[in-house]
Amino acid sequence: MTSAANAAPEKSPTFGNPDQPAEGAVNVTNPKALTDPGPQDPTLAGTQPAFLNPPATDVNGMPQYWASFNLAPKRIQNGGWARQVTQDDFKISTTVAGVNMRLGPGGVRELHWHQQAEWAVMTYGTCRVTILDTMGRPQVADVKEGDLWYFPAGLPHSLQGLEPDGCEFVLAFDNGESSEFNTLLVTDWIAHTPPDVLAKNFGVPVEAFKNIPLHNRWIYQSNIPAPPLPTVETQMAAVAGKPPNPFVFRLGDMQPNRETKSGTVRIADSTNFHVSKTIAASQVIVKPGGMREMHWHPNADEWLYILKGTGRATVFNTGPAALTANFRPGDIGYMKKALGHYLENTGNTDLVYMEVFRADRFEEVSLSDWLAHSPIERKGYPRNTVRRSFCAAAIQSASFVFAIPRIEKHDSAGSNAAQRILKALETESRPHAGTYIEASTTKRPTIKQTKPLVTSEAHGQPSA
Ligand code: MN
Ligand code: MN
Repeated sequence: MTSAANAAPEKSPTFGNPDQPAEGAVNVTNPKALTDPGPQDPTLAGTQPAFLNPPATDVNGMPQYWASFNLAPKRIQNGGWARQVTQDDFKISTTVAGVNMRLGPGGVRELHWHQQAEWAVMTYGTCRVTILDTMGRPQVADVKEGDLWYFPAGLPHSLQGLEPDGCEFVLAFDNGESSEFNTLLVTDWIAHTPPDVLAKNFGVPVEAFKNIPLHNRWIYQSNIPAPPLPTVETQMAAVAGKPPNPFVFRLGDMQPNRETKSGTVRIADSTNFHVSKTIAASQVIVKPGGMREMHWHPNADEWLYILKGTGRATVFNTGPAALTANFRPGDIGYMKKALGHYLENTGNTDLVYMEVFRADRFEEVSLSDWLAHSPIERKGYPRNTVRRSFCAAAIQSASFVFAIPRIEKHDSAGSNAAQRILKALETESRPHAGTYIEASTTKRPTIKQTKPLVTSEAHGQPSA
């Protein structure tokens, strides 16, 4: 509260700094209050300029929604490695647990299954995936960067890195408590079954199991070269045939659902990737200067994973609460269902990321769309309200935003539209006239360009 006794009375709330007491470095009168003399690691802290110096529009009270595979410990075995960010380490992430795995050439993730469904996006190289459905129908497929797979809960599967350089991918389990280090492994089960039962079950003498592995493998190095795909398909063929719907999806090869000069969006959910009944996902590419516009998702929390480039997001909640975070390759974000957010490209290269939802459909609501289709003037509707102003702004801005899912570019056309909006707002005789055009003096954090995680943009030929 403002008091005459204060050395520096608080400013009135302004556009760009709406809170009381005011937050943000812009309100600090003694510069010494801004320094950070305590113990610190500038390299680590410097990756999050938005935490070090939040925009003055941020207001505290939001749970942490940023995490990163870059800070997750690896489990390394002969053949590959994995690291994960589960709800144990990332409390907010209740619907999704994330795993980042690398299999070198000949590296095998052994035959296993689990109680959760597994969705994955390939980020590098080539991988051979195998799965068997509940009707005894096997599928084997070789996947490359940009491809997805989805294994329904309980279905047995295995993975193998192929020549020349294996593969890397990111998994999303449809349950935040899932752990990649705690799956049902075929080695474990066989080792923990009485030998006479094994003999009876498989119809072979007990001696046949004398040399089985007594410990699980999880990831191991195979020295047997992977045969050509058609050979394996023949070896695996079942009388029951093949699964009617493939468990892999070539998302990177798909025509974008939406393409603007500022980027592209490709969506894979149960409407086109039919088996993916519990995970909906979109691959978003935002060009430099572009932004994934302000929106929310009415049906599910969003688990966000950055593949390339750098970005900045703010999540808005009741309270109000608002928290801004920076994103780099390998980082994870988590936006709770219905909470407002945006993601802007802060770098000079494409920002490429995945939006992942525990849902059968991709759904979103666009703020611009909503405001553009709200009543502006109607009998009995109060004139000159803030809402009316926002509606006018939305109508004006409709010339430089695009339909769902939107990516907005702040180019010259956008600037012109913004000028028109400001003019329209100035003519409104609102209670706080003028405040909406008062520029914030808060400096936007500068982001240094980082090297993309994966430099290869090339995709192989789409598989039939
Ligand atoms: Mn698995
Ligand atoms: Mn979103």
